[in-house]
Amino acid sequence: MHELSLAGGILRVLEQTQEHDPFERVAHLRLEAGALSGVDISALRFALQAIAPGTCLEHASIDIDEPAAAAWCMQCSQSVAIQSRLDACPVCGGYQLQPTSGTELRVMELQVV
Ligand SMILES: [Zn+2]
Repeated sequence: MHELSLAGGILRVLEQTQEHDPFERVAHLRLEAGALSGVDISALRFALQAIAPGTCLEHASIDIDEPAAAAWCMQCSQSVAIQSRLDACPVCGGYQLQPTSGTELRVMELQVV
């Protein structure tokens, strides 16, 4: 399961943070997973809950934001899906795109105790 390895990766990041800057546990964690990041939010939430017991994530409250992954194309005046900020418009091939969301999975906020 894809999301289980992602959850493990997030936990490793947190544990590395804990090594350098010791804390007891995570109180609150906020993640952002773009709609084009390929992450199933409910599966990721489930995976994080599954690996939490016995780790610094135990008892943590976890929010996962899912910003829509799209950009506004100024040439063809429509919202288009993009994979990265460097992409050309999939409709007209232009580069006058204004990204309106991200496509990444990342830690946005971390509160520890
Ligand atoms: Zn376009």
